[in-house]
Amino acid sequence: ESFQDVDLGEIIMGNIALSRYTRPTPVQKYAIPIVKAKRDLMACAQTGSGKTAAFLLPILSQLYTEGPGEALNAAKENGKYGRRKQYPMSLVLAPTRELALQIYDEARKFSYRSRVRPCVVYGGADIGQQIRDLERGCHLLVATPGRLVDMMERGKIGLDYCNYLVLDEADRMLDMGFEPQIRRIVEQDTMPHKGIRHTMMFSATFPKEIQILARDFLEDYIFLAV
Ligand code: AMP
Repeated sequence: ESFQDVDLGEIIMGNIALSRYTRPTPVQKYAIPIVKAKRDLMACAQTGSGKTAAFLLPILSQLYTEGPGEALNAAKENGKYGRRKQYPMSLVLAPTRELALQIYDEARKFSYRSRVRPCVVYGGADIGQQIRDLERGCHLLVATPGRLVDMMERGKIGLDYCNYLVLDEADRMLDMGFEPQIRRIVEQDTMPHKGIRHTMMFSATFPKEIQILARDFLEDYIFLAV
């Protein structure tokens, strides 16, 4: 097995080689084709399983081929596009600043030499600096839920063109009490609805509350346990 078995395009393959990943981990092997086929996914996977690349690689691959163009052109036509408010095409929600930064680092590694610009926002840090970074362009946003709600309220982020949504470590986000913020983000009118957007949930455990979230956020999903 190698990454050659899944066609991720030239840029991604080059960046995988640079990162010195030689073989896909099990979660990558199974999840990448599911995301590429645009099916929703509920994956039970632990930290260390390689779950970050399992969602980032196929999402970035699709952003490269679809191009940032489509969503940005649509936003421009609506007169909404401007540096002051960014419309990411992909959103990854994570419970902690530490995990958000890890995901962001991996996103930067895999978006090297591409036009896709990743950004990260999290609580407990200077919001002004994060806003200035967003204003330089944001195609893939990694965020903790509370800080993202804050950014939305300040009119800095719109999710109108966000066709890829990932909830990482969903069980931890619920344990930390983020469910109201998560629902506020995902269930807002302007967010592409389920069945239109592509949604992936990752969780170490699969208790009742996660099953309910999966039922509410995912459309006809594939369940994967590794
Ligand atoms: P994660 O479970 O996504 O937090 O990844 C755990 C660690 O494994 C991270 O340090 C990744 O950089 C690394 N990793 C992920 N996928 C691979 C792979 N296919 N080959 C080698 N290392 C990997």
